[in-house]
Amino acid sequence: MPKEVTDVICPFCGTLCDDLIITVSDDNKTILGVKNACAIGAEKFNHQRLPGRVKRPRMRQADGTYKEITYDEAIDWTAKMLVKSRKTLMYGWASTSCQAMSIGHEIAEKVGGIVDNCATVCHGSSLIAIEDVGVPSCTLGEIKNRADCVIFWGCNPAHAHPRHMSRYSIFPRGFFTVKGHKGRKIYAVDCRYTDTAKCADEFIQVQQGFDYELLNAFRTAVRGDALPDTVGGVPKEKIYEIAEAFKTARFGIIFFGMGLTHTMGRNHNIDIAINLTRDMNEYTKFAIMAMRGHWNVTGSGQVLGWQYGFPYAVDLSRRDQARHQTGETTSVDLLNRSEVEACFYIATDPGAHFPVDAMISSSRKPTVTIDPHINCTTEISDIHIPVAMVGVETGGCAYRMDNVPIETRKVVEPPEGMLTDEELLTKINKRVDELMAKGGA
Ligand code: SF4
Repeated sequence: MPKEVTDVICPFCGTLCDDLIITVSDDNKTILGVKNACAIGAEKFNHQRLPGRVKRPRMRQADGTYKEITYDEAIDWTAKMLVKSRKTLMYGWASTSCQAMSIGHEIAEKVGGIVDNCATVCHGSSLIAIEDVGVPSCTLGEIKNRADCVIFWGCNPAHAHPRHMSRYSIFPRGFFTVKGHKGRKIYAVDCRYTDTAKCADEFIQVQQGFDYELLNAFRTAVRGDALPDTVGGVPKEKIYEIAEAFKTARFGIIFFGMGLTHTMGRNHNIDIAINLTRDMNEYTKFAIMAMRGHWNVTGSGQVLGWQYGFPYAVDLSRRDQARHQTGETTSVDLLNRSEVEACFYIATDPGAHFPVDAMISSSRKPTVTIDPHINCTTEISDIHIPVAMVGVETGGCAYRMDNVPIETRKVVEPPEGMLTDEELLTKINKRVDELMAKGGA
């Protein structure tokens, strides 16, 4: 008899929905159905039974084809690569558990690697701004229960975090928000009319690249100071009107995405958005939150921050100290300068996200990719090691976008003989120890 597993956490996006119901076969090996998830979340669970799923490590041959090898062979090759290389880029981590990350960091300390996560190409600039000026934030639960003024700035949760709006930010009824959507005023600020903008009460179209100026104008308007006729394509009357609406809200929240972090101004855009939030707290309660993408990219920042004091791009190549400098220890810059000797990718797909030049540079180095499935990066790697899907075939801790830690659940058994990230990294760590005790690879 198939059975239902309830209260399952979705390991896809930073919303980490925790109300999924998964139907599994009676032998606990196959997912038969997914309830409550959005389309992209459901698809992740459905990939568990993907036809042709790779179940054993593969090594690339001279003619470009791949040959199946054993886990022991893959572990030995990976450990030798890590020990031989003076500087290995160890990138990814955003789709695995915090427990696996800590083992990976231990390896990086031993071999002098550089540990970086997906923030390097998404919310790294937010983290720089937060280091500079702090962040008045809150939890998603507080937003559901209290927020009556919700601003989406440069983000499109309708596509990237599909249930965010129904669980937390627009539609749900909360303790002090009993009218749900009707009791909230929703603003969308973007340079284009997105599907999220369609759900908003007010769409503010900012001229591309003028987010900083518009945020500054809101700060000016909140103080009641003079503005030019238009700022970033928005008439001053509109800016004054919205600033007044922000001031009279009971609880406001600014959600921001890569439309702010990766447009002109970058970390300064976030810096000034945080300062606008601070200003608003002179009048009412306001908070700000980054719309983190990968489901545990926040966790990677938490673990790295706790261990080394920097949330991404941590250079451990000097062994006795951790260094971080955006532009210097960040993955794309390292690859563009061909400054690393090997690449170790886990739980993400830089081949799908990094600039072409960086990936061409990467493809010329010894590369290992650890991922449950074939992706763009596995196909330019010397070795692809498949692992169990975290949050589906094994559990582990993850941090939601509001920095709340949540324990993900194992729903089904992984394919027979397949290792989890934690098991694989533990074995690589042990083999690294053996090789180093012998004096090298
Ligand atoms: S919104 Fe995100 S966490 Fe929730 S079900 Fe969809 S993909 Fe999963």
